Amino acid sequence: MAGLLAMLVAFAVTVHAAPAVAAPTKPATTMNLGQSYRLTASLDVPAGRIRVIEQVTLTNRAAHPIDHVNLSVLPRAFGYFAFTGQVRVGGEPAATRWTTRTNLRVALGRWLDRGETISIRVPFRLTIGSSGGAFTARTSRDRGVISFGEWFPILSRPHDSYGVGDPQVTNTADRIQLDLTTTTRLPRHTVACPGMTHAPEVRGRHWTCVSEKVRDFAFVVNPQFRLTTRTVDGIQLRIYTESVDGSMTANKARNAVDRLNNRYGMYPWPDLVLAEVGAADGFSMEYPRIIHLTRSKVTDSYVVNHEVAHQWFYAQLGNDQMREPWLDEGFADFTARWLMGVGEFQCSGREVDSPVFAWPAGRTSGGDWQSCDGYFHTVFYKGTEFLNAVRGRMGSQAFYNALRDYIAGHRFRIITTRGLLDFMDGRTDANLRPLYRTYLDAYD
Ligand SMILES: [Zn+2]
Repeated sequence: MAGLLAMLVAFAVTVHAAPAVAAPTKPATTMNLGQSYRLTASLDVPAGRIRVIEQVTLTNRAAHPIDHVNLSVLPRAFGYFAFTGQVRVGGEPAATRWTTRTNLRVALGRWLDRGETISIRVPFRLTIGSSGGAFTARTSRDRGVISFGEWFPILSRPHDSYGVGDPQVTNTADRIQLDLTTTTRLPRHTVACPGMTHAPEVRGRHWTCVSEKVRDFAFVVNPQFRLTTRTVDGIQLRIYTESVDGSMTANKARNAVDRLNNRYGMYPWPDLVLAEVGAADGFSMEYPRIIHLTRSKVTDSYVVNHEVAHQWFYAQLGNDQMREPWLDEGFADFTARWLMGVGEFQCSGREVDSPVFAWPAGRTSGGDWQSCDGYFHTVFYKGTEFLNAVRGRMGSQAFYNALRDYIAGHRFRIITTRGLLDFMDGRTDANLRPLYRTYLDAYD
């Protein structure tokens, strides 16, 4: 007791004698935040307009205090986005600034210490048009179908929209909830979303979707949707289509999930949604627990397998998709080809781990996707060639065991080229370094 009292006295004296502890002076932020999102939305389908009140709850898990965060708002690159009120932090009006066309810097108005929680309120609307090209299956409106992908302000590292690759870098959120009300009564299967907890019996105006442990949340709206379902290993697959019967897509997706559960470890969520968007062409797109398929690819074996593979490489193992796109695209291509029994073919002279910026492009279009030295051959197909070379050197069993263990140890996190490949190297007596140096910039 006495000792403690003496210490307290000494501590009090010390504090009293010392100058006041200076608050941090340099701006600071982090991606290491507990995150949950609640999106309360009103949707006018014919007008392509959605009005949203977004509530973000953030807990600082970094070792240092922060005074601002960065939210990525990709629809702004298309002119779809507008605020409908003041951004508020903890109920108080917040200072915000666009540091790129799509990065919204939000000042917290104070220092948020480790372990502290704060809420941000972002009221906004989107007026959605046809996005085309690489953005066809993201946020877009075509043939009366509205797809919502990378659609709401989400915690990110600062970046901008870009025409090559997937311009989004997000960490896993604890929970993302959508409460959707439509302006008119619509059929039950109009809304395709993961984690649907409420929908009208037959027709109605209210849907609720709740997704946990996901790095993004996407959905598709089409009053003409038909639903096809399957179950695999207790996971419900829901396939929403308009232009074709969903059974062929459903069977392909079920086969892929079944085989990938065995190969890479169990899919960790209770459902997986595949939904057809309105546009015929352009690229299909993966999101956690949901896949957006363009009309010409709804039954395409490669596309279904590739996008299902992204549920492991991207949705579970996240990566910086702008700086190291091969970590999800190379693995998705490798996995789709394995599922289909198709070998690789590539003619790229570039390094597999090239960033998307290796291909000059505009904010929302452009870029060399198709040529030999283009994005597909380099990041996807040569990525597969590289992974097959690593597998050959390690032996298939050692390769897949190591990969499976790595996924189990890094699920829901962001991985890096070096982190993954050093791990693989540690799981074999074979010398992988010459291969790494041949194919990758990271090991030069
Ligand atoms: Zn992909």
